[in-house]
Amino acid sequence: MELVCLVKADHDRLGWQERIVRLQQREVIILTVSSVTEEFRLDQGCILSYSEESKTLVRAVAWPRICGKRRRVECLLETDEATIEQLKTFLESAQIVPKERKKLLVFVNPYAGTKKAKKVWSDVKYMIEHANIASDVVFTERANHARDMIKDANLEHYSGVVSVSGDGLLHEILNGLAARADWEEVRQKFPIGLAPGGSGNAVHCSLVFQLGEVFADEVAVAGLNIANGVSQPADFIECETKDRTFVSIFGIAWGFIPEADIGSEVIRWMGPSRAYLWVAWRMLFPVFYAGKVEYLEVTGDPEVDNIPVKLPKITDPVPEEWKAESGEFLNVYVCKQSWLDYAALLVPDCKLDDGFLWLVMTRGPVSRMEMMTWLMNVETAGHLLLKQTTMVKIRAFRLSPDTPADGGSCPMTVDAERFDEVLVQGRIRPRGCRIMTKQQL
Ligand code: ADP
Ligand code: MG
Repeated sequence: MELVCLVKADHDRLGWQERIVRLQQREVIILTVSSVTEEFRLDQGCILSYSEESKTLVRAVAWPRICGKRRRVECLLETDEATIEQLKTFLESAQIVPKERKKLLVFVNPYAGTKKAKKVWSDVKYMIEHANIASDVVFTERANHARDMIKDANLEHYSGVVSVSGDGLLHEILNGLAARADWEEVRQKFPIGLAPGGSGNAVHCSLVFQLGEVFADEVAVAGLNIANGVSQPADFIECETKDRTFVSIFGIAWGFIPEADIGSEVIRWMGPSRAYLWVAWRMLFPVFYAGKVEYLEVTGDPEVDNIPVKLPKITDPVPEEWKAESGEFLNVYVCKQSWLDYAALLVPDCKLDDGFLWLVMTRGPVSRMEMMTWLMNVETAGHLLLKQTTMVKIRAFRLSPDTPADGGSCPMTVDAERFDEVLVQGRIRPRGCRIMTKQQL
């Protein structure tokens, strides 16, 4: 179906212009009328509002990709009544307009990263308001504020929770939810939305990547994900140490990468590039950390792999079918995301809900030349070029790094935050929680 309508794009100085609009399958295509405006698509999840001004006039606001960037456009479609009815039926059946939802509970960490979270939230808020979604916002005042609040909050009036910060606040929110008495119900029904307000936004980067979007559009994509709130199942990791249990959605690591994450905390203000100063230093003077990695590998046989894993007691030996590797490692990562940050790809094929964990181990020694190879190819998972690296799909793990001979402890992180407990084990909970996305993946 083709219609003529008035379209105005925010970046376009020409203002309202007559364009031809084509409706096909799940897309609305706005065709070019002159050399200055280009054709663009209102693809799934990008229309945020749609209102009938009269029986012959509708107004829609959307964030399509125009000239390589997601931008706001407003369309006024004026046509006959029958065509408007047709358009309405089309938009509803194609499910490209956000559904009505209860309000969102939003946590913003104003001190995250380069202190950009407030600005990110104001951009996202502008978008979700177009979709008529209300929100209650909490600006966190201390670490664990979000976790403590959501642990006891009455969630009845909310349709989901949103984290505007880095991976650390998301970790807090997830653990706050996991501490609730109704967690088993909440994790399946109460989706989590993400907006990249931290200096380390690995989970959001991985989501943007999986949606086929570009990092430069991350805030617009976050707005669309949250506004549309199509919720998508996501795996998470259930972990335990000798003293406590917790959940993680990004991963657990020891060695080189955690050292860069922790070491660079003091230069948090530098933003995402901060870790790379440490990386450069470590390239010159690589350090290896010894320990043991035990894991239950994915067999590839669904009948075996679908049986939920039962973890052994942490003080008992692991079951016989588990494998073990010990020795010196440059880095060990049990990961549930593909990107570590905007520049480092760790697991190219990792999916939100692929149902397993990715164990990436790089054994020592690694020469300076090899370190260089990794760093030069960090955006294309350069560590996989090293013969010392192995990547295994697993369902459960136990990490027991040794205490370094010179005292101190082996650098470890959970969801890129410092972790001091050393002995830790965990298992995958496939499709265990839900993440907001702009379209079904
Ligand atoms: P970044 O990407 O900058 O590391 P995170 O979301 O990971 O951002 O947050 C970093 C840490 O800040 C987390 O451990 C979180 O618990 C903590 N935090 C949250 N709110 C505050 C606050 N208001 N002041 C200080 N720390 C906070
Ligand atoms: Mg962090």
